[in-house]
Amino acid sequence: MSSAAPRTAGQDRLWSVDEHLEDILAAVRPLEPIDLQLLDALGCVLVEDVTVPLSLPPFDNSSMDGYAVRVADVAGVSEEFPAVLDVVGDVAAGEADLVRVGPGQAARIMTGAPLPPGAETVVPVEWTDGGLGEGPASGMRARSLAPEGAEGQVHVYRQAEARAHVRAKGSDVKAGDRALEAGTVLGPPQIALLAAIGRGTVRVRPRPRVVVVSTGSELVQPGEELGSGQIYDSNSFALTAAARDAGAIAYRVGAVADDADTLRSTIEDQLVRADLMVTTGGVSVGAYDVVKEALSHVGDEDVAGSGIEFRKLAMQPGKPQGFGSIGPDHIPLLALPGNPVSSYVSFELFVRPAIRALMGLGDVHRPRTRATLTTAKALTSPKGRRQFLRGTYADGSVTPVGGAGSHLIAALAHADALIVVPEEVASVEPGAEVEVVLLG
Ligand code: AMP
Ligand code: MG
Repeated sequence: MSSAAPRTAGQDRLWSVDEHLEDILAAVRPLEPIDLQLLDALGCVLVEDVTVPLSLPPFDNSSMDGYAVRVADVAGVSEEFPAVLDVVGDVAAGEADLVRVGPGQAARIMTGAPLPPGAETVVPVEWTDGGLGEGPASGMRARSLAPEGAEGQVHVYRQAEARAHVRAKGSDVKAGDRALEAGTVLGPPQIALLAAIGRGTVRVRPRPRVVVVSTGSELVQPGEELGSGQIYDSNSFALTAAARDAGAIAYRVGAVADDADTLRSTIEDQLVRADLMVTTGGVSVGAYDVVKEALSHVGDEDVAGSGIEFRKLAMQPGKPQGFGSIGPDHIPLLALPGNPVSSYVSFELFVRPAIRALMGLGDVHRPRTRATLTTAKALTSPKGRRQFLRGTYADGSVTPVGGAGSHLIAALAHADALIVVPEEVASVEPGAEVEVVLLG
């Protein structure tokens, strides 16, 4: 056999779910960090400690629309005895050229505008007559500011302490502070902070590019006419959607017919845009098990199939699985079974953790919990295989939906959990406690 021959060591024995997963995670390394634009970094893991280059806010500014004044000028004022101040100008947000506020003076100021020199505090417009020159009407009701350019005077009816309604420079973060630590997963609030401190790009582990190839000569693209004996290709949609949901940039390749050469060349063509390849179907022991055929029979000059091992797992659904790496860059490839439920469950158990490991995320697994089985009759499960049944979870209880059949797509569409029945358990009584994987 050539050096490109597939690995065979694990083909003749039964693998446990955990062994298979460990094998995959041991082979998958986090992707090399790159610099990304902020929005492209959403959901990615930061690999640098980000230091604040400038204080936030960068300057003292007003938190209200109102008047910037001196404290002494409004001390002890009331509705009855207002301060009457000369309005010397406007300060809008973004203003660079600031008026100076002297004794007996006020500057009209907008939210976010810099506190002008001389001013010590801000009185909100609601505490004034808004420069309209009227007395207070009914108490402190809100008034809008007088039209732009209105100079003249403003009546102030309430006193303000020093720096009232002023957001101090650096009161949010200070230059030199640590904004975010390496390892942070960037969500919208973290993106907001990066933008606020002026970062245009950040260094993160990128989202993995995942290519999904389905196989089967019976498969038709949704939206097209079905011929006799044909079915719609649902796996490639399910898995591409699941890969995106897991954080990947996923590409769906339309179903490839059961022809080994076509499949091999399709996979080779796709390698250029893949950090991870996923196939469905064609991995069991039938006559047209094209993935097995394409990736097991490899000529010397052929790069595809350089190390894919096809295994039997002690699980249901999802017994036949393939895993290895492919092409000159040793792109990991997971070959999932074709039955829709089998392929989806296999994705959840093996592909999702692989995607999250490529992203460098610390916790690659779905949350699990224990729940009380709510069902009319006992569940049965094949001895020696770990069974994953579909269920709905709520308030500590889980109810199976559909049966064990791995073609039951409608039941899957109503499930939000997987019920785990361990290898050594052959039946589970109603009311028993079971382990549940929450699909979120
Ligand atoms: P296979 O493993 O290729 O023999 O497929 C097992 C079963 O799953 C067969 O009934 C297939 O028709 C079905 N199947 C395979 N691939 C898909 C797919 N992409 N979408 C829907 N059903 C599929
Ligand atoms: Mg098939």
